[in-house]
Amino acid sequence: MSRNPDLNGPMLRMESVRKTFGDSVVLRDVDLEVAPHTVTTLIGASGSGKSTLLRCANLLEEIDDGAIWLDGEEITDPRVDQDAVRRRIGVVFQAYNLFPHMTVLENITLAPRRVHGVNRAEAEAHARELLDRLGLGAKAGEYPDRLSGGQQQRAAIVRALAVRPRLLLLDEITAALDPELVGEVLNVVRDLKNDGMTMVLATHEMGFAREVADQVCFLDGGVILERGSAEDIFGNPQQERTQRFLRRIV
Ligand code: ADP
Ligand code: MG
Repeated sequence: MSRNPDLNGPMLRMESVRKTFGDSVVLRDVDLEVAPHTVTTLIGASGSGKSTLLRCANLLEEIDDGAIWLDGEEITDPRVDQDAVRRRIGVVFQAYNLFPHMTVLENITLAPRRVHGVNRAEAEAHARELLDRLGLGAKAGEYPDRLSGGQQQRAAIVRALAVRPRLLLLDEITAALDPELVGEVLNVVRDLKNDGMTMVLATHEMGFAREVADQVCFLDGGVILERGSAEDIFGNPQQERTQRFLRRIV
């Protein structure tokens, strides 16, 4: 197990990852490399394994076979401190998962203060800076139910960023939003990309997946069936199943 982070190699690497739930194989032989400061989008039908892949990358699911590296450190090594690994990865899910009984600011400063030992003043200053950046400066003192869905999801992104993650995993973060609120959340992801944040995101927003991706992976039945640049996958897909999926959805 390498203790020194390898900052020159891929930020995230998955090799021959296999994940089963009971008898069903949900990921098989998944290989993935995510270079620093790049965006990888995962596309594919419901049930193809996108969420499971993200959950395995964050060690929320234990893999059955294969290995995963973060900054060159094998994080699936049983000796690794899983909590420490998760602290380096920010995650945002489909449903805004802010705590309803805490203000936006309290939601955002919770992990930095409790998990990372940052003092209150510093945690709040950083939270306010991020809230300003994501256009939520005026919402720090509000409770989540006073925010629109788009604002809640942006606040959830701020919360994920508050621990200064190396890598951000975004799972269908616009799927639960009214259509008119999708754009403001996608704008945040665009801004993060421009700032150089490394991201892996599962999305049904194909236009967005194409626009923002340095790498697109098409998942089908737990396999990354096809991968390439956005231009390759959307403009000239090689696999019949990819073609069929894109015809149906675009
Ligand atoms: P996607 O995000 O692409 O829709 P998922 O990763 O959620 O796909 O699911 C992939 C497959 O794994 C599906 O068949 C789903 O039913 C199954 N699955 C996901 N999580 C579990 C679980 N905790 N237990 C059993 N089966 C699961
Ligand atoms: Mg999913």
